[in-house]
Amino acid sequence: MRFEELPTPCFLVDEGLLVQNLEILQQLMERTGCRILLAQKAFSMFYFYPLIGQYLSGATASGLYEARLGAREMGKENHIYCPAYRDSEFDEVVSLCDHIVFNSFSQLDRFGAKARSAGRSVGLRVNPECSTQEGHAIYDPCAPFSRLGVTAKNFDPDRLDGVDGLHFHTLCEQDADALSQTLDAVEVSFGSYLSRMKWINFGGGHHITRPGYDLPLLEACIARVQERYGVQVYLEPGEAVALNAGFLVCSVLDVLHNGMDLAIVDASAACHMPDVLEMPYRPPLRHSAEAGEKAHTYRLGGNTCLAGDVIGDYSFDEPLQLGSRLLFEDMAIYSMVKTNTFNGMALPSIAVRDSRGDCHIVRKFDYEDFRTRLS
Ligand SMILES: *Cc1c(COP(=O)(O)O)cnc(C)c1O
Repeated sequence: MRFEELPTPCFLVDEGLLVQNLEILQQLMERTGCRILLAQKAFSMFYFYPLIGQYLSGATASGLYEARLGAREMGKENHIYCPAYRDSEFDEVVSLCDHIVFNSFSQLDRFGAKARSAGRSVGLRVNPECSTQEGHAIYDPCAPFSRLGVTAKNFDPDRLDGVDGLHFHTLCEQDADALSQTLDAVEVSFGSYLSRMKWINFGGGHHITRPGYDLPLLEACIARVQERYGVQVYLEPGEAVALNAGFLVCSVLDVLHNGMDLAIVDASAACHMPDVLEMPYRPPLRHSAEAGEKAHTYRLGGNTCLAGDVIGDYSFDEPLQLGSRLLFEDMAIYSMVKTNTFNGMALPSIAVRDSRGDCHIVRKFDYEDFRTRLS
């Protein structure tokens, strides 16, 4: 079908745009020898896993279900890091995952031997205590009292037996300068153990596919660690894989006025793009401008009863009308994976635009999807 025929609300992921990102990542692997994994937490649209697997080394998971998805739908290198594994799931984790990363020495003591005896590569997440991001404490694993990763103070070199790799993840939507600064901190705290390792995983948060990202500095960071310590470098970006490759298409259901013009759309910030409220940020909207810049300004709100379900203020050349279609941009990442059915909101359909420009719906949701998560 044509784009105009897509039902709304609908997530639309554009294969051509996804491939542009994958090519950048693949070329980086070829130039540096690093390996890149899809962090499924950001983008779990498994329809595209066979395609992604043609470019990347594999996938990484934050827990058992993502690990299953990566194993079954991509079937390449399958890594996992989880803040704490459960006894009841660990056998399956071992059966699915090539690299198993632990968050603490107590978890390593509890499960490490089992992972090793199955031939899995064992890693430990470290916390270099180097905050490089301002304003987003919720996304900063280096913030005080963080539960994520072992700090230098808690690090016990005598318990590293059988550990093949170190993992850190501290960045969020950042450029390579923040990585370089973080590597300095990693080397100060953990550098003396790196030569005993086979690999190091730089985590995610690298905005590699963003226009203007400093690729040469990233390459220098990778080379520096590979040469100094002889380790295999892994990166596991989520965002960068599907950055700017998807949209949320919605329609205007009503237009009202209360001190300013308002429009209600058939999507919801709370249900379909929760980062808009959590981060918070104002998502880009095609053919719109900042409030007041164009002739007609509206506050766009979702179709829930939550007063704060507001997407943002936008201006348009023409007045909005019942049925006007709106295209929110950069909605492939941290959107589909975070949707919920609060207020009984329908989940957006999932559609793709293929390499020829044709749109197809790959998944539709209905009342049963709402009902089956409740009882
Ligand atoms: C969230 C996360 C990622 C991916 O982060 P992006 O910001 O989406 O690139 C990678 N690794 C770990 C451990 C994570 O928690």
